[in-house]
Amino acid sequence: MKLTIGHLYPDLLNLYGDRGNIQCFRKRLEWRGIEAEVIPFLSGDKIDFSKLDIVLLGGGSDREQELVCGYLKEIKADFKNYVEQGGVVLAVCGGYQLLGKYYKTDKKMIEGLGILNITTEWEPERLIRNIILQSPLFSDPVVGFENHGGRTYINDHTPFGKVFFGLGNTGKSGYEGVVYKNVIATYLHGPLLPKNPQVCDYLLERALQRKYGENVSLSPLPDKLEHKANSYIFDRYNDKKYVLQET
Ligand code: GLN
Repeated sequence: MKLTIGHLYPDLLNLYGDRGNIQCFRKRLEWRGIEAEVIPFLSGDKIDFSKLDIVLLGGGSDREQELVCGYLKEIKADFKNYVEQGGVVLAVCGGYQLLGKYYKTDKKMIEGLGILNITTEWEPERLIRNIILQSPLFSDPVVGFENHGGRTYINDHTPFGKVFFGLGNTGKSGYEGVVYKNVIATYLHGPLLPKNPQVCDYLLERALQRKYGENVSLSPLPDKLEHKANSYIFDRYNDKKYVLQET
């Protein structure tokens, strides 16, 4: 078996070690004897979504998002098609915002892909801290780090998780991210996947099943270090419960 992973615009969207997510996809496939090919698509490159099994869209500054916005117009229809047909996507922070209709900053209106019915509006106070979620997709908590000026309004979408500690989509809603078909869109940097192998395996399994059939499943890995890192963060914030903004 083999999966092909498309890393979109690593020249612009590459904040806080998002590349670690690519390494994690690759390594966890290789440890199971499954081939992994990673194709980085730089801004302006042609993207053939029919060749891809997983797409990563990472985070970026407002300036970089504005630059990316121009390239997104060219791939909008193909990307939407890929998602609607069950293509697997991990979109982080700036990438999450760009899957939506728009990201309105104090200076600019950045048009998104419109794949998700969500909108993002910038506010001066940045939401920065470690964050812990309880996601209905997993029994283990999902841990990470968030740093965003945008507040994302997800309308009728299903959130990725409930905020156990941290700020999340708006700092007030109590929810974080979006899950739609085989897309996970989230504010969690960190990088997300090495700290949360359950999330990595969920996406890999979805991609393998889409390509090779529903019966494919991944063999478990020991994940001792990963669990240690995950529980360290969870235990550290466990007693603090929700820390949502007052205003
Ligand atoms: N520029 C966006 C914001 O501040 C996204 C930041 C990010 O990707 N970390 O909301």
